[in-house]
Amino acid sequence: MSLRALDPVAMAKASPYYARNHMGKAMCNLCNVVCTDEPHFLAHLEGKRHSSELEGRDRRNAKRKRLEQEEEEFEAAKARAEASKAADRLMASGGARMSLAPHGKPKHTFRTETDPESQTCKVWLEFYFNVVPEDTRPLHRWRSSREVSDEPEDDVVFLIVACEGYESIALKFPKLTRSTEIDSDNGQYSCRWDPLKKVYAIYFVIG
Ligand SMILES: [Zn+2]
Repeated sequence: MSLRALDPVAMAKASPYYARNHMGKAMCNLCNVVCTDEPHFLAHLEGKRHSSELEGRDRRNAKRKRLEQEEEEFEAAKARAEASKAADRLMASGGARMSLAPHGKPKHTFRTETDPESQTCKVWLEFYFNVVPEDTRPLHRWRSSREVSDEPEDDVVFLIVACEGYESIALKFPKLTRSTEIDSDNGQYSCRWDPLKKVYAIYFVIG
């Protein structure tokens, strides 16, 4: 044991709850309790009053955290719902908006990588939108062949990418299992809009 540990003043000062009031008296800044001296302060730290204050503080912190988390989740869910609604509106009016597409079809590039062992295929897509108003952004939706074609093919699905001012793009993919937004946690899916570079990037895995 060090000498410092035997010195009540040093021990008291080492506590994060140690303070001195305007009279120079030792006090606990958590409980607002004024003590006669440092040994008394140390005894207070061991006492019921202090431990119940600590518990109360922990409970309040946990509750605040929980509320903050709930609020965050709520905001995220709201944003997802808004994006989904905006996408549906955009898709629903896709035909009508064709004539309102002064910028034509956006350019796009894609890269794929097939894994022969797992029979899966990674797909990277990039769409370039040079003119996008600040309050809008491109969106994508998966649609069955029946929804987009008069002559539906059973074994394909379409990725529709739409953006205000542009013609929508429909890309055909084989109808296989596909990673989605829902399983984005495992890194198999991502979708990013870079408003500075004006690039909309989508990554997913099929197979
Ligand atoms: Zn205390």
